[in-house]
Amino acid sequence: MNRTGRAVVYPAPNAPFEVREYPVRDVRAGEVLVRISMSTICRSDIHSYQGRRPNPCPGILGHEIIGVIEQLGDGIREDLRGDSLAPGDRITWTEYFADGPSYYRDVHDMPQKAPGLRKYGHDHVDDDPHFLGGFADYCYILPGTGILKLPDALTDEEATPLNCGVATMISVTEAAEIAVGETVVVQGLGLLGIYGCAIAKSRGAGRVIGLDAVPARRRTAERFGADLTFDVGAASEDDLVSAVRAASLPDGPDVVLEVCGVPSVVPAGVRMLRVGGRYVLGGVINPGSTFELDGHDMIRKWITLKGIHNYHPRHLVQALDFVMANRSRYPFAEIVDSRFGLDELDEAFEKAANHRVLRAAIVP
Ligand SMILES: [Zn+2]
Repeated sequence: MNRTGRAVVYPAPNAPFEVREYPVRDVRAGEVLVRISMSTICRSDIHSYQGRRPNPCPGILGHEIIGVIEQLGDGIREDLRGDSLAPGDRITWTEYFADGPSYYRDVHDMPQKAPGLRKYGHDHVDDDPHFLGGFADYCYILPGTGILKLPDALTDEEATPLNCGVATMISVTEAAEIAVGETVVVQGLGLLGIYGCAIAKSRGAGRVIGLDAVPARRRTAERFGADLTFDVGAASEDDLVSAVRAASLPDGPDVVLEVCGVPSVVPAGVRMLRVGGRYVLGGVINPGSTFELDGHDMIRKWITLKGIHNYHPRHLVQALDFVMANRSRYPFAEIVDSRFGLDELDEAFEKAANHRVLRAAIVP
């Protein structure tokens, strides 16, 4: 193979993006070469771009990616479900890859915490094989990645967020052990929170309560399974806790999910819970996300507190099945509400960073 492809590179945090050309080589054993159909800008891409989390530069951002197989390396014949893979198939894949022996994968069934784990959209672009991020013509899928074939019926807009936002919320809601009829509160109604409302409902929640300060987000959540929403900007913490508890009879919600990334909301979320309630942290990923809890309250109320990072490959399979089963019930395609070309990444990031779009898609 003797050709090149375009990649949109960020040379340094907050610097303008540059469209560059890099060589495209034949795949090696265990690799797959994909021609990218669509990538979406995740909140974590914005944090990397703004220099709020460490990321190698110059690099290609983007890890919510789907594409069509161009070349399959030796040894790759099936996806996670055992379906055969061939050039021309449209696929999604885990946002991370880890190869080789792994104590956490093999002993604790936590492949997402394997030592040496790497993520797409987090590599230096000058290193082989150059294309390991979403905002480019191509992406190489490296050994240790879970691949999943996409059904033809699913649109690109429905499919692209599967391998980050949707799979993460499958993981977070699984950790919350939501039972039939329970009341679930979702703190933060961005992309994670919106999928979280819909997934909690499909897991059997009797009532889903969404919390956010932005009216448009609350209205969106109400179309994705939230039965009730509260404006967190309009009430004091005491009033908010009282209002949520009054809406969660007899003694407060069973589950609270934090997906807003704001540590100061955690104490209020724990106060809302009933005795024996579960609190799951999914958003406060940035270093320094500290909060204060009283151990007395945690013990007296039998609170379970869990932090959840990334997801197991089974959650990607479940994410796809969840969206396929509920695509007539919820307007998933509307979540990806804007499209940009590779040469429009500056504009796309500006709009995404300032919440002027819900999920920006990049189409090469
Ligand atoms: Zn992401």
